[in-house]
Formats: sequence, structure tokens, C-alpha cells
Amino acid sequence: MDYLFAPPPVVAVPIVGRTERFPVHRVYCVGRNYEEHAKEMGFTGREPPFFFLKPADAVVVCPPGETTPVPYPSLTANLHHEIELVVAIGQGGRNIPVARALEHVWGYAVGLDMTRRDLQSDMKKQGRPWCIGKAYDHSAPMGPITPAGQAPGVLTAAIALTVNGADRQRSSIDKLIWNVAETIAHLSSAWELQPGDLIFTGTPEGVAAVVPGDVLEGTVEGLTPISVRIA
Ligand code: MN
Repeated sequence: MDYLFAPPPVVAVPIVGRTERFPVHRVYCVGRNYEEHAKEMGFTGREPPFFFLKPADAVVVCPPGETTPVPYPSLTANLHHEIELVVAIGQGGRNIPVARALEHVWGYAVGLDMTRRDLQSDMKKQGRPWCIGKAYDHSAPMGPITPAGQAPGVLTAAIALTVNGADRQRSSIDKLIWNVAETIAHLSSAWELQPGDLIFTGTPEGVAAVVPGDVLEGTVEGLTPISVRIA
């Protein structure tokens, strides 16, 4: 087929222990999915899960053992980190029941839902979409994907983020309000999931600002950690 111009390259994430890469279809994100983070954002109680998306090319691949530069974005004076467990979907589907949901997971990774918090807050106040706060370029740094079979303890693992070596976020994946299976069930009732979809599952409490030069180290026990420097 002839294209008017070169189509964009496929966004693809490395896989632990494999030479093939995981081609990214969509990037879904869950909002306010840890109770203590919901509280720090001014909300209480269990609300139905809600979702937003980032473009696939917002993903910044963070190779293991390296500190990956991530540019400080335009228009913001309050860039926040959100450390998250990322679920990589290997088998698509719609209306997936909770009991079958984990069969659709190919693997897991550590990711950062970077957020222009000042712009997101403005949009919230005005009842407008969050895109400019959440879905900007380079807003989704993530590490390599570990196949689910090699990450048996991930759903109860510790999750943490340090900035310049100091603790910022520390929690456990079992504190998710809507767990991975429930999230997949809800999400697949609204969209048909496809192989290659990524789900950023939400961040625990402790979100805060970073500035150029800061080094962020994110971990989920049992997965490859990520390290980024705000450039
Ligand atoms: Mn988030």
C-alpha cells in the first residue's frame, strides 16, 4: 500500500528474557484506585472505576540498568509522579468476567503516569477533559514487561517510588480499590480489549512534584525497576 507519508513506527516495549517486543495498541489508565491517594486528591469512598487514555506514543521505554532521560513538559509548573503497576494485555475480549480476567494478562511492568497536575486541576474545575494534563508527549515512561508466569507474587507485591533516593510513594498492589481482574472486567465492558493494550492501574498516595534533574526510581517487587531523570 502507498501512504501519503511514512506511517508512525510501532511503539513496542521490551520483554524480560525475550528478543521479541510487545507492540502497544492502546494505553488505558485507571483514576484514583488506591484509597489513600483518593483521599489526598480530595475524594473518599469506593466509586466505580473510571478511565482515561494516553496515546501509545506517550510511552517512553526505560531499559533496565539505565537512567532514562524524560523531558520536563511544556505549559506546567507542577509536574507530578505517579508510580503504577502496568498490566499488558495478551488476549483481547469484551465483557470479560472477573473470574477469567487474569487469563487475558500477558505480563506486568513498572510505569509512571506522569501528570501536569496544574493543568489537570484546571480542567477538573472547569469540567473539561484531562488530556492536556495526562496524555501529553512522553507522559508514560515504563520498564520492560515480565511475563505473568514469571511474576507470581505481583498482585500482592510492594510498590514504591523514590526521588533522589528519598521515599515518596510506598504501598502494596493488594491495596488497589479495584484489583487487576476487576479493572479488566470493567474496562472490557466499555471497550473491546485488544492484544497490545496496556493498563496503568492507578497510583498509591504520596504523589508530588518533580523538577529538572530529579532522578525517579520506581519498583514493584518481582518486576524490573525503572529509573528516569527529569531532563
Ligand atoms: Mn495515575
